[in-house]
Amino acid sequence: MTASAQHTASYYAASSLPQPDYPALRGEVTADVCVVGGGFSGLNTALELAERGFSVVLLEARKIAWGASGRNGGQLIRGVGHGLEQFANVIGTDAYAR
Ligand SMILES: Cc1cc2nc3c(=O)[nH]c(=O)nc-3n(C[C@H](O)[C@H](O)[C@H](O)COP(=O)(O)OP(=O)(O)OC[C@H]3O[C@@H](n4cnc5c(N)ncnc54)[C@H](O)[C@@H]3O)c2cc1C
Repeated sequence: MTASAQHTASYYAASSLPQPDYPALRGEVTADVCVVGGGFSGLNTALELAERGFSVVLLEARKIAWGASGRNGGQLIRGVGHGLEQFANVIGTDAYAR
């Protein structure tokens, strides 16, 4: 494993169970959905889709929770720092209403 694939020194890294090193994807894989990024967002998306019967491939460039998800302060912050209606501009009002 290269240094950039190590978790940053944090409480999570120090207290988590050992995480296996998954091999790099080689060749082709077919799935209903490919999720890129193994942080909170990607893991939750992959899990929700799998629970609904979709086949899912999750690609993580480094390690699960290598990014912000493995570094945060653990405070439960509900919502986001801007109005949710802003998503409607990006994904459309139909998708936003779901
Ligand atoms: C220091 C810090 C403190 C925080 N404190 C809090 C807090 O107390 N409470 C709170 O609610 N939120 C907090 N946050 C915010 C919260 O951690 C983030 O909003 C959340 O973790 C984002 O999750 P994510 O899955 O979207 O992104 P990330 O966790 O960053 O995951 C993205 C993943 O995608 C991978 N990736 C990127 N590009 C590719 C690619 N091309 N191919 C494959 N993989 C790729 C990265 O390696 C990474 O693992 C904090 C953030 C930081 C940095």
